[in-house]
Amino acid sequence: KQLTSTQIRQMFLDFFKEKGHSVEPSASLVPFEDPTLLWINSGVATLKKYFDGTIAPENPRMTNAQKSIRTNDIENVGKTARHHTMFEMLGNFSIGDYFKPEAIHWAWEFLTDEKWIGFDPEKLSVTVHPSDAEARRIWHEEIGLPQERIIDLEGNFWEIGVGPSGPNTEIFYDRGQEFNDVAEDDPENFPGGENERYLEIWNLVFSEFNHTEEGTYEPLPHKNIDTGMGLERLTSVIQNTKTNFETDLFMPIIKATEVMSGQFTYGQSVETDISFKVIADHVRAVSFAIGDGALPSNEGRGYVLRRLLRRAVRHGKKLGIDKPFMYELVLVVGDIMKDFYPEVLAQKDFIQKVIKTEEERFHETINEGLTILNGILADAKKNNDTQINGKDIFKLYDTYGFPVELTEEIAEEAGFDVDHAGFEEEMTAQRERARAARASVESMNIQSGLLTDINVSSEFVGYNQLEVTSELV
Ligand code: ATP
Ligand code: MG
Ligand code: MG
Ligand code: MG
Repeated sequence: KQLTSTQIRQMFLDFFKEKGHSVEPSASLVPFEDPTLLWINSGVATLKKYFDGTIAPENPRMTNAQKSIRTNDIENVGKTARHHTMFEMLGNFSIGDYFKPEAIHWAWEFLTDEKWIGFDPEKLSVTVHPSDAEARRIWHEEIGLPQERIIDLEGNFWEIGVGPSGPNTEIFYDRGQEFNDVAEDDPENFPGGENERYLEIWNLVFSEFNHTEEGTYEPLPHKNIDTGMGLERLTSVIQNTKTNFETDLFMPIIKATEVMSGQFTYGQSVETDISFKVIADHVRAVSFAIGDGALPSNEGRGYVLRRLLRRAVRHGKKLGIDKPFMYELVLVVGDIMKDFYPEVLAQKDFIQKVIKTEEERFHETINEGLTILNGILADAKKNNDTQINGKDIFKLYDTYGFPVELTEEIAEEAGFDVDHAGFEEEMTAQRERARAARASVESMNIQSGLLTDINVSSEFVGYNQLEVTSELV
């Protein structure tokens, strides 16, 4: 089936509308009245007030396409086929209304019915929690999936400490061994393993227990459904592209970047492709985030934007782009997304100005900083050091505006470790000085790792510690 990403998004919302759901708007990436979250990171994050019972929704069935940002996936961008910083999560939700059977049947109908996506059912497999006999039974007896394509996964349990919790089931699309990055006989070569063959497209969470202070799991009187499917991944399977980046959601950005580079084209080498992908990903995230009211700064959300922009600028340099360019790509992002998200084009002048200013600021010092870093790396090589010390990393951060993650990435590419502990010491000392200078440091409440990624169970890797420490500066 030939479908554009715009059609796919709309099809999802239409499907669930037909099943009695209210279509909720895509909310701002900046959480509203929720100090526990840095960014909206899933569809459910904007509906928390219904899930925790604070407010009763008019309709217990809701659906949305929600822009989301996940900082824990920054390092994955461009390396895996499927991870972005900003992506869209397609979701359907039930607040004490329908439960497992409907959630599973509708997901299957949407994905396999010819009237909708029409995937070949043979390509799909699922994971379930080992304790969730009900989900396994529905997949096997009602949907007809063979037992061997229903895989038990211990990690398929969703909880955020005390409170509502429950098992989840994830749906995987088999792209075939030719898409894989591990061998056929690799133990990770299964749906739910670390591989690029079986692509996780949809996660259905069954919130059915109350995890009590005593550590027991009591059945909830009102059970909820929370699902999330990545639009970019679904689109990549439908458009049959190698990664999410060759879909119509990203390719126009990559094409525009090729023109600016004038030296490199996409598909030429693994290394330059990573740069094209990072740029395409990051420009979307910063354009939307700035449109939603975030601004580059040295703390919290602003630091994430600064880090993304500076990382993209460095990848631009790798493609031979030596002047501000990200701001020009804002127009391409706005154009791709305008049907569902008019806000980027509507605010293009402001977004471009913020990005351009930030790029210019970084350009003023980046070459000097890079020269110094290259000198440090050369010295380290000469001395047979394996590690770059914390003082040097701090200086690059403090004087040249190099996000520590950037220094780290460059050092690691050159084969060195970095002295995290030493860097942290310098940061602590700096923080103490800042604290002494200012009576009160206004800082964001750092979210706990689990809240950052409310929808994730086992794979959650934790909020980047270095990013956290940098927030207070
Ligand atoms: P993965 O294991 O691939 O990292 P996940 O299990 O962390 O994904 P969930 O928390 O289950 O992801 O989110 C629901 C859906 O959102 C996923 O099935 C996927 O389609 C999509 N998704 C999650 N993280 C990203 C991301 N960083 N970029 C693009 N899509 C994502
Ligand atoms: Mg998942
Ligand atoms: Mg997963
Ligand atoms: Mg993940």
